[in-house]
Amino acid sequence: LTVLGLESSCDDTAAAVVRVDGTGEAEILSSVVFGQAELHSAFGGVVPEIAARAHAEKLDICVEEALKRADLRLSGVDAIAVTAGPGLIGGVLSGVMCAKGLAAGAGLPLVGVNHLAGHALTPRLTDRVEYPYLMLLVSGGHCQLLIVRGAQDFSRLGGTIDDAPGEAFDKVARLLGLPQPGGPSVEREAAKGDVGRFRFPRPLLDRPGCDMSFSGLKTAVLRARDQIVADKGGLTRADRADLCAGFQAAVADVLAEKTRRALAVYAEEAGAVPVLAVAGGVAANAAIRGKLETVSAEFETKFVAPPLRLCTDNAAMIAYAGAELFAAGIRDDMTLAARPRWPLDGASPAMLGSGK
Ligand code: ATP
Ligand code: FE
Repeated sequence: LTVLGLESSCDDTAAAVVRVDGTGEAEILSSVVFGQAELHSAFGGVVPEIAARAHAEKLDICVEEALKRADLRLSGVDAIAVTAGPGLIGGVLSGVMCAKGLAAGAGLPLVGVNHLAGHALTPRLTDRVEYPYLMLLVSGGHCQLLIVRGAQDFSRLGGTIDDAPGEAFDKVARLLGLPQPGGPSVEREAAKGDVGRFRFPRPLLDRPGCDMSFSGLKTAVLRARDQIVADKGGLTRADRADLCAGFQAAVADVLAEKTRRALAVYAEEAGAVPVLAVAGGVAANAAIRGKLETVSAEFETKFVAPPLRLCTDNAAMIAYAGAELFAAGIRDDMTLAARPRWPLDGASPAMLGSGK
């Protein structure tokens, strides 16, 4: 089963070809990602209008390149998978329109994929992880703890009630005058900093359940920065590094503790502890990965973290998720709609413990 996948829900335009054999073994034949970072850098964030236009311009080229690298023509593909949401409506629409055009033109079946499902299924693509498993999805726009039971079967144990961690990294970078995307630049600074100098809050750790909050943390960094500026007239490199180290440690602690709780909840319900897998751009952070590995070791679970290029937005994950859905008999047609909001699952109350 060979699937062409398209992704255009945020600021990366991507196309990929993935082949899955009868045993479930997946091979990425090609994966092309055109980032738009330089288009948005002057604005300090993704501008939806600019993103949509760039996706519309780049999708065809991306598809062509993905097919070329896979050494295939469209006729060699069995199905077309496309991110149908959630995301910026203009970008998602561009992808869905492009996929419909290709599917209609080549007489191929079409499968709409939830972008978050793409992220959540990535450990199956990279490590053949069996269902069910626990997934911590931490990206620029999302933060959720999920039990993944099937390609369309997710239970959400908790998630952020405000900012996503990646967003918090990006905002903190902006506060400190560090380059975007903020994650890598904050991590680089944090490595040089004194983690003990600033003790930032660990929001919601005092409350039961798996929900998280990161916007107050960002505000705490802002206050600390303003205090230093008021006292000394400006920030030194050491101040900046110490602020980054304190912030990163707080994010890592919150993610680790909430993941620990999710593992405990699930272990109790299922009588066994599943694999712990991560996905999303923030999973690239070595300090956060380290903490999660520790938590995973406490529960004697296997820890799976896909390679970075498959943690951030890409189309291989969409092609792979599309292949699983296709194999399960799922098809879309020309009525496939772009869904800017598309939750994987509502909170499942039974799993939330004593609530929030
Ligand atoms: P979504 O997938 O939710 O739509 P997105 O496409 O913005 O959002 P990703 O591409 O998965 O998310 O990840 C990008 C985010 O990951 C950015 O916010 C970036 O700052 C963050 N990030 C990348 N590398 C690191 C790192 N080393 N440490 C922390 N955060 C990081
Ligand atoms: Fe994403």
